[in-house]
Amino acid sequence: MFIPPSPLRHFTPGQLEGHINQTSEEVRLAELYRYGIVDTLPEPQFDRIITLIAQYLHMPMAAITFVDRDRQWFKSRLGLQVEEMPRSIAFCDLTIKQSGVLVIPDATLDPRVAEFSNVTGEPHIRFYAGAPICTPEGHPLGAVCVIDRVPREFTPEDAAVLEHSAALVMDQLKLHITVQQLGDLALLDSLTGLPNRANFRQRLLHATRRADHAGESVVIGLMDLDHFKLVNDTFGHPAGDELLRLTALRLQECVSSSDTIARMGGDEFALIFTDLANPADSQLIVDRITQAFAAPLHLGGREVFVHSSLGLTVYPEDASDLETLLSQADTAMYRAKRAGGGHAFFHPRHDQSVPAEMELLVALHHALEHDEFELLYQPIVRARDHAVMACEALIRWNRAGTVISPLDFIPLAETSGLILPLGRWVLREACTAVAQGRVTRVAVNVSPLEFTQPHFSEQVALILRETGVDPQRIMLEITESSLLDPARGQEVLRELRDLGVHVGLDDFGMGYSSLSALAQLPVEVLKIDRFFTQHVDEPGAEGKRSVELIRAVVILAGAFGLVTVAEGVETAQQARTLQTLGCDYLQGYWFGRPEPLRPSPQLVPITGSASDLTVYPNL
Ligand code: C2E
Ligand code: CA
Ligand code: CA
Repeated sequence: MFIPPSPLRHFTPGQLEGHINQTSEEVRLAELYRYGIVDTLPEPQFDRIITLIAQYLHMPMAAITFVDRDRQWFKSRLGLQVEEMPRSIAFCDLTIKQSGVLVIPDATLDPRVAEFSNVTGEPHIRFYAGAPICTPEGHPLGAVCVIDRVPREFTPEDAAVLEHSAALVMDQLKLHITVQQLGDLALLDSLTGLPNRANFRQRLLHATRRADHAGESVVIGLMDLDHFKLVNDTFGHPAGDELLRLTALRLQECVSSSDTIARMGGDEFALIFTDLANPADSQLIVDRITQAFAAPLHLGGREVFVHSSLGLTVYPEDASDLETLLSQADTAMYRAKRAGGGHAFFHPRHDQSVPAEMELLVALHHALEHDEFELLYQPIVRARDHAVMACEALIRWNRAGTVISPLDFIPLAETSGLILPLGRWVLREACTAVAQGRVTRVAVNVSPLEFTQPHFSEQVALILRETGVDPQRIMLEITESSLLDPARGQEVLRELRDLGVHVGLDDFGMGYSSLSALAQLPVEVLKIDRFFTQHVDEPGAEGKRSVELIRAVVILAGAFGLVTVAEGVETAQQARTLQTLGCDYLQGYWFGRPEPLRPSPQLVPITGSASDLTVYPNL
């Protein structure tokens, strides 16, 4: 490893010289290792050079050697039996410490080498001539040398031959490194330096074979970053690249050297964990990864939290062939994504019939044209008295008699861009329902992809005008991912406020950014994710943490003049706890499931006049 030089100020001249020598030796060694030649197998192109010079110069012994930290290693040798020897008796070490060809006509008369064991004993070296093998930058890595058991003369022409052959060796080394780099190129991802997809398959194959022998398991993981496209679109591709590099580093930090982290392309990473005596140990790995990403990454001066979906499968327990394993990991990842991120282990029962993406995409296009979507409405109640104040519109897809959850098609609609016409349909439908008096106020989900479109607020304005709805009765629910670019986010939020619609932050606490940064945005409502509310009444650490978090969010919201909605309330006890914690509104199955609006009578009575509508009025 190259150790960077430390400041030189405190050295005496003698120490300074020693220090410089030591440092340049480290650089030399780093270069030597970079060429990756030491300890490689014999290669004919090197042997040919040696044979040629031995014959030409009529020498019984010749060698190509490289000087390692404390040994001399022979890449090619003729008439010599050793593969390596200590650096302390290496003639070539003397060669690399001077410039030009080193000639020792009679070793027994040269005090530098006379006592070397290879002079006093076998192979009784008397004559030595060596030319350093120098890199283009001038670092001597080793030498090409000729040796005899009798003292000899060496002409300048002989020395020139030796120097030429050293240059030939260097050419071979350069070729060596190029071939190696080409190999890396084919097997390493150029952005992150991680093994690429092809390499991953090779490694997986090896890992499974090794596991067979050892009777162990291998855990295979596929990890996909959530909303990565948005980072790219918002901050630009260089920032996206940087995020991938940082993610790669984080991942590498939490695995051991026998494990593999690979980049499969895009924002997808693959993981192989070996040496698992017990598949249950894989939970520890998942915990380590979760822990590693709990702290933000620093992306060009801002803090970014990486959220991802990780799908895992275990060899040989789940499957024995690579294709099946990969598709199982993919399916599990897809399930994790649908559940809002985190991780999921492959489970035959849960992961049976996820239709292929292409098929789904075609069907989704078809669905939009054939009116297969429907909005359900779920009540949002005031915590104090459980009065229904508004409803959230939640989309469903009626596909040939089966109802498909948005969790199963919104991600695909987002990646395919279909979310844009779909989002417009949802907003128009919900606004129409309000305009017709079928529901008082409605909260509509807006995908980050819609929100970050250049003309989003104009689209909203158009739909408000078309449907003639009172904008005060509409709340748009956006997520933190919509606000990755706070400046642009603020601009859109202001435009929306000018239109008279309300904006709430959905899934609060789950996104990319830090809490306090978000609370300063011009939104009016924070919706606390079900992830936190579901644990409030549980004994133990999880419950306590959730309570603390909600308490903190409520205080924060209060400080910034925002109201809070706790989502996913399923029991009366949860409702009580959340009200005690200071949540203003509640939503969840306890108060009502998402249901279709009945044409009449109205599901929700209209209370209050438009003028007293703040967000949800009558607090
Ligand atoms: P969300 O915005 O967080 O919506 C709340 C989800 O929690 C809904 O799931 C709702 O049915 C569910 N939920 C409500 N109360 C409870 C409860 O007490 N317990 C449990 N376990 N779940 C509860 P749904 O309808 O499946 O929607 C899932 C997600 O899909 C939504 O999460 C939202 O992100 C997205 N989504 C739904 N409709 C739309 C839409 O029209 N446009 C967009 N862009 N996204 C939508
Ligand atoms: Ca929502
Ligand atoms: Ca939510």
